[in-house]
Amino acid sequence: ITEVPVIGRFAPSPTGPLHLGSLVAALGSYVMAHRSGGKWLLRMEDLDAPRVVSGIADDILRTLESLGFRWDGEVVYQSRRTEAYRSAMEQLLGAGLAYSCGCTRSEIARISSAPHGAELVYPGICRNGLPEGKSERAWRVKVYDELIEFNDLFVGHYSQSLSSSCGDFVIQRADGPFAYHLAVVVDDGESGVNQVVRGADLLQSTPRQIYLQKLLGFPVPVYGHLPLVVNPDGTKLSKRENAVSLADRDLAREGWRLLFAALRFLGQSPPPDLNGAPCTEILAWGVEAFDPASVPSTAAPLPLPTGADE
Ligand code: GLU
Repeated sequence: ITEVPVIGRFAPSPTGPLHLGSLVAALGSYVMAHRSGGKWLLRMEDLDAPRVVSGIADDILRTLESLGFRWDGEVVYQSRRTEAYRSAMEQLLGAGLAYSCGCTRSEIARISSAPHGAELVYPGICRNGLPEGKSERAWRVKVYDELIEFNDLFVGHYSQSLSSSCGDFVIQRADGPFAYHLAVVVDDGESGVNQVVRGADLLQSTPRQIYLQKLLGFPVPVYGHLPLVVNPDGTKLSKRENAVSLADRDLAREGWRLLFAALRFLGQSPPPDLNGAPCTEILAWGVEAFDPASVPSTAAPLPLPTGADE
């Protein structure tokens, strides 16, 4: 049997500087791809134009470089891949698997009686054609009552019924933008990504992506969801508290500390003789020594180095 080489990737959204959560995702995906001699691709998820902050994509790339990361091939920008998403969309429409929907969020909320802020389950109002008086607001993909299951590298077995957790979901908005789920699946599929390592905030999105992979004929990658970085009291970190930007940290001096902190967060024990080593050496140690079985499965704080012990 010939082993298929691993193709992993890191896919930051340039809506703010790299933050601790994305540093962990970058590190985890990097070592998991390289430990078996695979490739690590980089993709900028700049599809949501209004949320993209100008200059941030470059800031993220420079921050990654100063932390010793090197990626394979050219950076893929989602904003330049509209044609690929459109043809996937046409494939789904042609197969009768997608339809246009005229419902507003508040209409859906009224019917689906979900608690405020919770993800809404679309009750299928427009599934059999736009009702009189409604105009097109989005395109949805039809889901059926089947359980989507997978074995996560870190979280273990995970399953979800799409019909009871989200219903027919949006793959394109009527005013143009393609939904994240569609774009990710098309991009990972077309770049041959077969290992997706990312933050656990996306665990619940994975079944939707697996479903789209199946509909579009892409192989399902192996998934690994890394623990989330949270505040010591368990609450979500704000982007600001979290930023790891070249702009506000001296990465040349402190980079090794950040990598140490992120490796420890992932349950690894970098040896003290690597204190102060160049980032590339610490990454090389990570690739060599990374033990996936030691990655914790629950969210935790990531104590940042202060530099006070220098
Ligand atoms: N762009 C997403 C984020 O920054 C990650 C998407 C993915 O890894 O699939 O949260």
